[in-house]
Amino acid sequence: MTPDRLTRLEVAYLVARDARDRLDVARVRGEPADTHVLEVEAAETERQVRRELVAIDGTQLTVEDQRALAAIRAGVNTALGQDGGLPVAPEATLAECDDARAWSAALAAGGATLRQRTEACYGAVAQALDVNGQTLNRLQVLARLAAEPEAARRRDLFLALGPLWRTVDGMKADDGGRPSPYAALLRESARAWRAGRSPIAANADALGVTEREIETWVVAILDAWRAAVVDPDRASGQPPVEPWDWWWRAGVAQRRPEGSLPRDEILAVNRAVYAALGADLDGLGIVLDVTPRPTRPAIPVAFTTFGGRPRALPGGSWWRGRPTVLATYVDGGLDELAELIHETGHAIHLAAIRTRPAFTEWPASDALTEALADLVAHDVADDAWQHRWLRDGVVSLNPPSTGDAESAPGAATERDVLRARYAQTALDAAWALFEIRQHADPDRRANDTWSEITATWLGVAPHPDWSWWAMRGQLIQEPGYMANYAIGAILSADMRAAIRTARGSWIDGDPGWYDWVSERLYRFGLERSPAAVLRDLLGRSPTADALLAELAGVHRP
Ligand SMILES: [Zn+2]
Repeated sequence: MTPDRLTRLEVAYLVARDARDRLDVARVRGEPADTHVLEVEAAETERQVRRELVAIDGTQLTVEDQRALAAIRAGVNTALGQDGGLPVAPEATLAECDDARAWSAALAAGGATLRQRTEACYGAVAQALDVNGQTLNRLQVLARLAAEPEAARRRDLFLALGPLWRTVDGMKADDGGRPSPYAALLRESARAWRAGRSPIAANADALGVTEREIETWVVAILDAWRAAVVDPDRASGQPPVEPWDWWWRAGVAQRRPEGSLPRDEILAVNRAVYAALGADLDGLGIVLDVTPRPTRPAIPVAFTTFGGRPRALPGGSWWRGRPTVLATYVDGGLDELAELIHETGHAIHLAAIRTRPAFTEWPASDALTEALADLVAHDVADDAWQHRWLRDGVVSLNPPSTGDAESAPGAATERDVLRARYAQTALDAAWALFEIRQHADPDRRANDTWSEITATWLGVAPHPDWSWWAMRGQLIQEPGYMANYAIGAILSADMRAAIRTARGSWIDGDPGWYDWVSERLYRFGLERSPAAVLRDLLGRSPTADALLAELAGVHRP
C-alpha cells in the first residue's frame, strides 16, 4: 500500500469532520434554521471517508501511521454518522415522566431504554423544579442555595430538588412506590466494570497511573478537606453542616452584592483576562454564543466544541477552526463568570491544536481535558485575582460569626477561603468515591453510602432518607464520569504549580503564557498520550501533592 492512500483517507476524514462540526454547531445554535445543505454535505463527505477506509490495507504502515489509521477508525465510528456528532440529550415531557406504566416497562427493559428514559426525565424535571409555586431550573436552585440568607428558605430550596432525586432513585412505598432506576443501571455498569470496562481504570491508564492510585487520590482529597475544614469546625464546637447550608457556607468569603457582576461585565472580564495571557479571543476566531434567544434551542449544560476542524492552509499558514462556546448567561455573577472562563479555556485549547488530521481531536483523557480548561478558571476564586480583575474587588458581605479567634471581625477566615476555593472539589471527590464504592458493592443502599461519605469527610449531617446525591446527571449518563472532576482538580493543581514555577504568577497578566502553554500542553490532540504530555511538563507522573498542599494551606498562590 502506498502512503498516498493514507493521505487521501486523512484528507477525506478532515473534510468529513469539518462538515460534521459545522452541522453540529448549526443545530445547537439554530442557525441557519434550515440545515439541509449542511446535512447533505455531512452525509456525502462521510460516505467518501468510509469508501477510503474500506479500500485501505493498514498492514504496511509505519507504527505512527497505524496509530493514525486507528484514530480515524475510532473517529468515524463515534463522531460521524446518524448517531454521532454532539450528544443530543433525549427529551421527555413531565407528563411522560409521571407515567407509572412507562417506568415499569423501562425498568423491565433495563439497559439503554432505562438509561435514556431516566436521562430524559432528569432533564425535564431539572428544568421545572417548584419552589413555593415558582418554577426554577436546577442551576437556579443551586445559585439561590448559595445566596439565600434564611436557613429555613435554604431548606425549602434544597427540598425542591426532591423530584430530581426521585427521578434518579425511585420512590418509597408511601410516595407511590417505584424501584430505583439508578440501582438497576448500577448493577449493569458494575458488571461492565468488573469485566474490565471501568472508565476509572481507562482514565488511570491514559494518565499513566494505576486505578488504585485514583481511589487513593480521591480519599486523600477528602482527608485533606476533613483535616483543614471539618476537624477545626468540630473542635470549635460547631454542629455538623446541614446539606442545604453547604453552598451558602462555601460562599461566605466571597458573596457579592446582587447585580455587582452584570452579564456584560463577565463577558468583558473573560476577554480581558485571556487577552492579558496572550490569547486574543477574536484573533483566535473563537465564537462565544452565550445569549439566549428565541431561535436558539435551550442549552441546559454549557459546552465547547470545534465548530470547524483546524488545519494547515496552502502556503504554510494554519487555520484554527471555529472553537465555539455554547452556554446561556443571563444573570451574571461569579458562578457564571467562572463557568465562562472554564468554557473559554476549552476554546483556547482547541484553537491551539496543531497536528495531523487523524489526531485533531480532544485529548484521550476527559480528566486532562477538564484540567486544561481550569488552568485559568481556578483563579476566579482567588481573592488576589478578584482584586485585580473585578471592578469592586473582593466583597465579604457575610463575615463568619464562627471564625478563628485571631481573625478580625468581618474578615474571612482561612477556612472560609478554603471553602470558597475547594468546596466544589471536595463535593466532587465525595461523588467520585460514592461511585467507586457503589460499583464495588452495587447492592448497598446508595443513600447509606452517601450519608457515610458526606458525614465522615465533609462533616455533613446525615439524612439517609434523602437521595440528595442524585443531583448530577452524569451519574446516569456516564457512570464513573464524576471521577474526572476530582482527577481534573488534581491535574490542574499539578500543572498550575509547574507553570508557576516556570513563569511566575500570571494573575496580573503574562503575554507569553498562551504560546508557552500551547507549545507544552494544548497542541497535541491525540498525537501524544496524556501520560506523555504530563510527564514532559512535570518531569514525572502526576501526583495529588500540589492540590493537597493547597488544601493544607501551605501554599496560597
Ligand atoms: Zn469543561
